[in-house]
Amino acid sequence: MTSSSPAVDPVDETEVDEMVTAIRRWLANDVAPRVIELERADTYPSDLVEQIREFGLFGATIAPHYGGLGLSATAYVRVVEAISEVWMSLSGVFNSHLMMAELVSRFGTAEQKEEFLARFASGDLRGGVALTEPQGGSDLQAITTNARRVDDHYVLNGSKSWITNGLHGSCLAVLAKTDPAATPRHRGMSVFLVTKEPGFTVGRKFEKLGYRSIDTVEIFFDDLTVGTDRLVGGEPGHGFAQVMSVLELGRINVAARGVGIARAALNDALAYSQERHTMGKPICEHQAIQLKLADMACRVEAADLLVARAAAAYDRGGRSDLEAGMAKLVASEAALTNSIECMRIFGAAGYGRDHHVERYYRDAPLLCIGEGTNEIQRIVIARQLIERDRQQRGTA
Ligand SMILES: Cc1cc2nc3c(=O)[nH]c(=O)nc-3n(C[C@H](O)[C@H](O)[C@H](O)COP(=O)(O)OP(=O)(O)OC[C@H]3O[C@@H](n4cnc5c(N)ncnc54)[C@H](O)[C@@H]3O)c2cc1C
Repeated sequence: MTSSSPAVDPVDETEVDEMVTAIRRWLANDVAPRVIELERADTYPSDLVEQIREFGLFGATIAPHYGGLGLSATAYVRVVEAISEVWMSLSGVFNSHLMMAELVSRFGTAEQKEEFLARFASGDLRGGVALTEPQGGSDLQAITTNARRVDDHYVLNGSKSWITNGLHGSCLAVLAKTDPAATPRHRGMSVFLVTKEPGFTVGRKFEKLGYRSIDTVEIFFDDLTVGTDRLVGGEPGHGFAQVMSVLELGRINVAARGVGIARAALNDALAYSQERHTMGKPICEHQAIQLKLADMACRVEAADLLVARAAAAYDRGGRSDLEAGMAKLVASEAALTNSIECMRIFGAAGYGRDHHVERYYRDAPLLCIGEGTNEIQRIVIARQLIERDRQQRGTA
């Protein structure tokens, strides 16, 4: 480990390769031997988070001008896949943080970029995005958290739930209604960069099936005063579009986590099936097991290709919700299916807690729910298919 962020040239493939190799070495030496114990304890892995910061990952996709690594999405997904192969929870420490940073990079005012991006990149200020509310996450336009303009500031009231990094983080990008009566509803929504001041309360930490050790909490805003300089972009009414845009990166990121878990399940199954013997031979020589291994490998490769394609589309700029939605859908379902197939190959040993398999099986379902459920992804994909088809036919 170095004590400062490595300077990575985001377009130099050799440097990106070296960084990914260094991260993989750290994962093998410092993380893998401790995952089972740390995850079971469900405590925040502060020392590993500090090492993530030393790798510069809190600034992975932030421009070098602000001290970030400036990685393209194509390079970034390689890091997320590598980490998720060993412990998905660790990627959550910086994934939603980088969505918050992307909101500022893409839509922030010049002053907001200067004030926040360097501190986000160093990890001195970190957090995530707060969209979901107790009454729902899919219908974001129905949120009720509101920000009322009073003189030269806004007053925030409401609550958010299932907010990752809400406890250990110190800043959140919060989606709120600035005009609850607006039609269409999305025109009345804005994003604020909110730090922990009086009026900001962290509620309970959720007990979770998986994705343990990382904090996911309730947040309450009670007459929280937020300066107008914290309104992303400086103009109200653009929050919904801003959030939808950075959710593309969020979905690519979730898809990369899916590839990580799907690949880990395949690798564990491959190794175990050569060690375990039944009927006088290793179980990998039974055709029933071979069929599973082949299908698992195909899922990994297909998901990986879709992730690479989505990341490339994101890097080209413009809209990439079709590609991101497809990658997220396929990779998260691959993670879920491969984790249960891996468990079947392990038999009772997979159901027990001595191996990593049961964790893959508990972590994978989150990927089908977070950053827009897979039901919502299918709707996004279908709408985009229809829109693009109409454009091609000239009937739009
Ligand atoms: C561990 C964890 C961490 C999270 N971290 C964050 C975070 O950091 N920030 C944040 O803002 N949120 C976070 N979330 C919340 C997550 O984004 C939401 O759970 C997700 O968007 C779905 O919302 P919901 O759970 O309210 O489900 P609901 O919106 O209540 O949906 C329930 C079901 O109905 C289906 N459904 C809903 N609408 C439709 C429709 N129109 N058509 C078809 N089906 C539909 C859904 O697919 C789902 O199956 C986190 C969730 C978890 C579990």
